[in-house]
Amino acid sequence: MNFKQLLIASVILISLSACQSQQEKRTTEKPRIAIAGLAIECSTFSPAQSNAEDFRVRRGEEIFSYYPFLHEDSAARQRAQYFPALRGHAIPGGIVTRAAYDTLMAQMLQLLKENLPYDGVFFDIHGAMSVVGLDDPEGDMIQRVRDVVGKDVLISTSMDLHGNVSWQLAHQSDLITCYRLAPHEDAIESKKRALVNLLDRLESGKGKPAYKAWIPVPILLPGEKTSTRIEPAKSLYAQVDPITKQPGVLDAAIWVGYAWADEPRNRAVVMVTGDDKQQVKRSAETLARSFWDVRKQFEFVAPVAPLDECLEMAIHSSKKPFIISDMGDNPTAGGAGDVTWTLKQILEHDAFKKSDGPSLIYASLPGPQLIDKAIEAGLGGKIEAFAGAEIDNRYAGPVMLKGIVEAICQSDDNAQTEVVVRMGSVRVIVTKKRKPYHYESDFTNLGLDPRNADIVVVKIGYLVPELYDMRGDWIMALTPGGVDQDLHRLPYQRIDRPMYPLDEDMADPDLTARFVPLSDEE
Ligand SMILES: [Zn+2]
Repeated sequence: MNFKQLLIASVILISLSACQSQQEKRTTEKPRIAIAGLAIECSTFSPAQSNAEDFRVRRGEEIFSYYPFLHEDSAARQRAQYFPALRGHAIPGGIVTRAAYDTLMAQMLQLLKENLPYDGVFFDIHGAMSVVGLDDPEGDMIQRVRDVVGKDVLISTSMDLHGNVSWQLAHQSDLITCYRLAPHEDAIESKKRALVNLLDRLESGKGKPAYKAWIPVPILLPGEKTSTRIEPAKSLYAQVDPITKQPGVLDAAIWVGYAWADEPRNRAVVMVTGDDKQQVKRSAETLARSFWDVRKQFEFVAPVAPLDECLEMAIHSSKKPFIISDMGDNPTAGGAGDVTWTLKQILEHDAFKKSDGPSLIYASLPGPQLIDKAIEAGLGGKIEAFAGAEIDNRYAGPVMLKGIVEAICQSDDNAQTEVVVRMGSVRVIVTKKRKPYHYESDFTNLGLDPRNADIVVVKIGYLVPELYDMRGDWIMALTPGGVDQDLHRLPYQRIDRPMYPLDEDMADPDLTARFVPLSDEE
């Protein structure tokens, strides 16, 4: 072999080995996964609107901190290369402004474009967002993500069971799942399942599941009737996991849907994904039929009554604390959070006018101007100021709070500042911005002792676990607001009819499975 031949041979060898290592790299390379999504639940029956600032937006690496199963040493983190783009969530509220949606979407899509191409997208949404002038925002969102990432990419959609699944969302989702518990104690576990299913399909090379069955179930019920702690939702949702264990079935999910948005897509849905057509169809139809069959058994998860009756029961009860859910304005379901109607009834009630009356804590009411005055007056100071009804004043105007400042919990930027004002035997928590009170520490941080209070009134529906465990007794008050629990009082115009329970005696619907085209098919 002369020098020239040697040179040619080594060039061939080198390029061969380069070729080999390229090949090896391709097969051992971890899948490239993007993370994106916007999550909010919006009542269109509330005058409130949600802006971009209402979203806690995480971009890039910051997104990892939101998912405990994606911390640096986690198994899921090792299995892929992640490109977190933009993930935002807001506490439920009014409809999202078009400007806010467009701004956040433009940022999300721009960030997604920076790290193309992807093998998968972990699409983490709620499913009950409303946007001014846009039906089916999540369907729009996923279509725009799809347009950026391309048809071959697997999108795994993770949702709240109170979300809505339109045909469009089902079409563009390759994998889709939602929580199986309400209250959502399995939120993290469900998000993890959505991601792990995606990783499994990418690693095995199986790709998009061959079949997606979708069944709309014409039922619209409030979350306060569909807690999985009690029947019939408990047994209904208990069917989901065994179904996913069948061969040929990848995942199954039941969405209760969201009752406080007047949009054509709002209703319950069942979906099952997998590779065995018959099994997928049968499973979806079983779940849909089971849901329909128990529709008349859904009742409020706790006793309900008008507010005046709730107050009488609480005043005469010896169980501490007697918790009253002020349901109609529940900010965690989409209420404006500043309706004053309930607090006004309480302050006008004779039982609470003297300081030795039954102790009552009211959580809570936004009152930014009152906060400023309370800081000025200082601890122990006297105050006289209005709070509430800046957004939702349909049922009552701002309420005058004239009392003693008992606590001031000031945040660095003052945006989260809370104060306690005492009038008679009532202590009212006033906040700068609306805020849900879900933890005992939310109260104790303000020097309040909710366990030993006679009555605690919270703007909430069914109790979150910590409040539930704390309760001496509990009743849910049918109060007015943007998330009125009496659906018959809501002025629906655009949802699909007939719908149970609005059309109580409707005929049995068609509950056969519709197969949704794969995302790379029309
Ligand atoms: Zn939910």
